[in-house]
Amino acid sequence: MSDSPDKAHRDFIRDIIDEDLASGRHQSIVTRFPPEPNGYLHIGHAKSICLNFGIAREYGGRCHLRFDDTNPSKEEQEYVDSIQEDIRWLGFDWGEHLYFASDYFEQLYDWAVQLIRDGKAYVDEQSAEEIRQTRGSLTEPGTPSPWRDRPAEESLDLFTRMRAGEFADGERVLRARIDMAHPNLNLRDPVLYRILHAHHHRTGDRWCIYPMYDYAHGQSDALEHITHSICTLEFENHRPLYDWFIDNLPVPARPRQYEFARLNLTYTVMSKRKLLQLVREGHVAGWDDPRMPTLSGLRRRGYPAESIRNFCATIGVTKYQSTNDFVLLENAVRDVMNRTAARRMAVLDPIRVTITNYPEDQVEEMEVANHPEQESAGTRRVPFCRDLYIERDDFLEEPPKGYFRLSPGAEVRFRSAYFIRCQEVVKDATGTVVELRCTYDPDTRGGQNPPDGRKVKGTIHWVSARHAVEAEVRLYDRLFSAENPDAGEGDFLDHLNPGSLTVLKGCRLEPALGSAEPGEAFQFERLGYFCVDARDSRPGAPVFNRTVGLRDSWAKAQK
Ligand code: ATP
Ligand code: MG
Repeated sequence: MSDSPDKAHRDFIRDIIDEDLASGRHQSIVTRFPPEPNGYLHIGHAKSICLNFGIAREYGGRCHLRFDDTNPSKEEQEYVDSIQEDIRWLGFDWGEHLYFASDYFEQLYDWAVQLIRDGKAYVDEQSAEEIRQTRGSLTEPGTPSPWRDRPAEESLDLFTRMRAGEFADGERVLRARIDMAHPNLNLRDPVLYRILHAHHHRTGDRWCIYPMYDYAHGQSDALEHITHSICTLEFENHRPLYDWFIDNLPVPARPRQYEFARLNLTYTVMSKRKLLQLVREGHVAGWDDPRMPTLSGLRRRGYPAESIRNFCATIGVTKYQSTNDFVLLENAVRDVMNRTAARRMAVLDPIRVTITNYPEDQVEEMEVANHPEQESAGTRRVPFCRDLYIERDDFLEEPPKGYFRLSPGAEVRFRSAYFIRCQEVVKDATGTVVELRCTYDPDTRGGQNPPDGRKVKGTIHWVSARHAVEAEVRLYDRLFSAENPDAGEGDFLDHLNPGSLTVLKGCRLEPALGSAEPGEAFQFERLGYFCVDARDSRPGAPVFNRTVGLRDSWAKAQK
């Protein structure tokens, strides 16, 4: 059986779900993807999205999109919007199940009050610094707060006044009353609520106390009857705390949390904080800069959504920390684009070619296939005339042995056009080649071998100088030159690759590319995959992004 590209491989989470269905623990499966709207989604999030939405789809269940919007100082509507756009683009849909943790603020508050009444929470007056210092360590127990045993009535009164806005930021917190000597530091009386006089993108100024993520997260899952709360491994030792809340509150359901290893990619940073820093400090042109590992960046770069889904299916889901090679992602992109991208001819670094024996005013429309393996992709007509451009590095004045492109006296095939022989090299005062004067063989129309049986080894692409569209083409390389920009001494910014963007102006493209739509993708023959930049292209002045080269030129250059 062949692997259908969109089908995820088996993994331990799907095994657990199979067992839960078989044992009757669950009749249907409910998952969720819970982003914090404090940045744009990146390729790491795609792994989680493909897992959660993929499971819902495979098992006929549903997947909620829930924004964990508990920290108004870092969250914005712009991020809420971009996250929804990116998930849809990836090919997933939450239907009517769009939720916000802020929808549950009132319920979470009521439950906090209940914990206080039950003697399981108290208002602490220590500063954040004092709380940190009295927390103890892995080898030392923590020190109880002087306010830990204050009467419930007093905490209740203070908590009400915290909500009413009587205190400044940081003056009081609400803490769970669990165990200051617990071996798991997350259970040493964690903070449940903090005072934050900040405007919230949804609740406005209604609240000035906000629940901590750890307090909000599990109860939100319970309120939504999530059956499998899937998250990354760093939350594994928060699970006992989530379970403590579930055990001590009258929640309507009991979600179970399962952890998997997050996605790491070579030559990439994945933390939103660092990506935000790249944007804020202008190291990139925005969240959707095509060098960014954000979904909006990869989309603008031309990565098909299908290739990202396939990549996520290929790497699978495990509990082992690892780093995946960026080349794997690029290969997934090549696989899809090789199949889907129409072929076109484009000359990025043009050198002029004059066919001296071709009639001055003649123009022929050459028929060229749009895809070598797909007849259904059809053909197009590409004008050929006496004045052409070819790629500068398709000519060498002194060719080494085995060089089958153009050189003085040599003959090559101009793709789908004619056999062309270079007769004369014209240079300017500085010795730079400015024109190649060539002849064509009329008996090779369409690039066919001539009747005399003569053959050529090289085929090169070309465009008509009279008909070409002039364009800007942007070539991208890795944003970082270190395999792990976060490793070692110093800052991740020290590893920015100064050559990550090369802008080529005056590129010459075959005329059909003049009417390409924003986002439309092509293979420029012999060069790579490119797409129309959706942000900077203008009618008559297209900008193309190189999505990925034809093969892994990076690994080659490294050798
Ligand atoms: P970052 O560390 O990049 O800031 P985050 O975990 O704070 O990310 P959230 O918005 O909380 O970002 O993430 C939403 C979901 O995506 C979480 O369930 C989280 O576990 C998951 N996720 C985040 N990064 C990755 C990753 N690199 N690989 C897999 N899943 C991830
Ligand atoms: Mg997070």
